[in-house]
Amino acid sequence: MSEERGIDVPRIERAVREILLSIGEDPGRDGLVETPQRVADAYAHLFSGLHEDPANNLEVTFAADSHDTVLLRDLPLASMCEHHLLPFVGKAHVAYVPEEIVVGLSEIVHLVDGFAHRPQLQERLTAQIAGALYETLGSRGSVVVIEAEQLCMTMRGAQKPGTVTVTSAVRGIFDKEPGRRAEIMALISR
Ligand SMILES: [Zn+2]
Repeated sequence: MSEERGIDVPRIERAVREILLSIGEDPGRDGLVETPQRVADAYAHLFSGLHEDPANNLEVTFAADSHDTVLLRDLPLASMCEHHLLPFVGKAHVAYVPEEIVVGLSEIVHLVDGFAHRPQLQERLTAQIAGALYETLGSRGSVVVIEAEQLCMTMRGAQKPGTVTVTSAVRGIFDKEPGRRAEIMALISR
């Protein structure tokens, strides 16, 4: 399976079995027998973006006939925090202004998923998406805003369920022109 490329699934299974033993569980009991395999399959998917360059999704392009802003709002997003390997889940808002070319909207979804399917930090994920749309695509500018609940914050540590972390990255004309930035932020937060 291509999704498992670069990922040692049997090794994850062994490691999960070790974790179950370490917490005092019996990996042989009914409900847990297939857990190592299920976790390994899930991780193969959740970390599949490590073995691709998500920016490759920006290779399918079309000639642009305008320099109008393109915004994808409320893209569902799920990633894994690299500090605790717990999920953070929320929404991404992704905007850019084309220069010579535009990219298919579904390619932007693949771009976001590719970067999200790695051990991540929300701040870095936000910057990577904005950077790819600005530098790799060669757009006039990009804005990425991510709103997510960090389960490592709500299930452990500070334990504040419902807290939403908002991160933003602004590149190119959105950085240079406060008017354009205000306009896109208004569209995103509407
Ligand atoms: Zn964390």
